[in-house]
Amino acid sequence: RAKAFGGGTYRFFTADMGAASRSRILMQSALRHAVARNELLVYYQPRVHLKSNTITGMEALLRWVHPELGAVSPSDFIPLAEEIGLIDEIGEWVLRRATMQTQQWSRRFGRPLKISVNLSARQIRTSALVNSVTEALHASGLPSSQLELELTESALMEDTDIAAGLLKELKSLGLRLSVDDFGTGYSSLAYLGRFPLDSLKLDRSFLAQAVKDGSWKLAEAVINLAHTLDLSVVAEGVENEEHLAFLRTTACDEIQGTCISEPLAQQDAERLLENAFRQPPRRQEAFARRS
Ligand code: C2E
Ligand code: MG
Ligand code: MG
Ligand code: MG
Repeated sequence: RAKAFGGGTYRFFTADMGAASRSRILMQSALRHAVARNELLVYYQPRVHLKSNTITGMEALLRWVHPELGAVSPSDFIPLAEEIGLIDEIGEWVLRRATMQTQQWSRRFGRPLKISVNLSARQIRTSALVNSVTEALHASGLPSSQLELELTESALMEDTDIAAGLLKELKSLGLRLSVDDFGTGYSSLAYLGRFPLDSLKLDRSFLAQAVKDGSWKLAEAVINLAHTLDLSVVAEGVENEEHLAFLRTTACDEIQGTCISEPLAQQDAERLLENAFRQPPRRQEAFARRS
């Protein structure tokens, strides 16, 4: 049948590709307008210090809610933004929005909350990034020690000389640098010595895999490797009691995942912080009298 309709199949196929590239072009132009039309949102996922069970800060996770397409995943539109040269503008917006919000929360709750912002490979290729970061810190008033930038292994492995120079410049601003999705990049470990890094985020696949085949020792070895190199460790994708119970037997520093909270819209994140940091009424009065 397929052969008999060979010509038709071919035409059908090209028509389909036409539709695919048409929708691609539509997506691209929609994305160009997303910032101006306020369709981009920053969601916040709390990070918790394991031993003290306190919230140390949040990871900023971008969301695009298009009026017709609905919610588009960052895994889909970040690569598109990179392709059409919009990633710097979007990245700058996320930095500004997230640092502003975090400084506001830090003041309100009287503690130095941290914010982690994801960077894509393309963003660590130009010194425009150093300017965006400097400006975001300046405009928000957030101390640089409260900003962490997350980079993937593959972003670090491409053009290592350019990346190394840029990261050194960023580091000199006083912020923290972290490797995201650590252990999934098939990369050499040599880069760990080349870059001025502060922490590793243990990819969630380690915990997921250990539940399946009992490879907990592998996750533990990665945590120990990080500590040997004076890097702190954040476990990602901490979803359940089994994950938590295991992590409590290790020296893992912080955890992040749905067992604490999924990423939240700004107002929901704020409510979560209010609940976490609400002082018992009496102590709050005592605090007010002293100041
Ligand atoms: P990521 O930085 O590794 O972020 C963690 C992802 O895991 C997020 O997906 C988060 O929603 C999800 N997650 C959190 N807790 C759990 C859990 O317990 N279980 C599972 N299965 N998943 C969990 P999301 O928000 O869809 O983001 C996907 C990726 O898009 C991010 O991965 C990051 O690489 C990228 N991204 C997000 N925001 C930005 C941004 O502002 N700039 C850039 N360049 N990339 C971003
Ligand atoms: Mg991340
Ligand atoms: Mg990650
Ligand atoms: Mg991940």
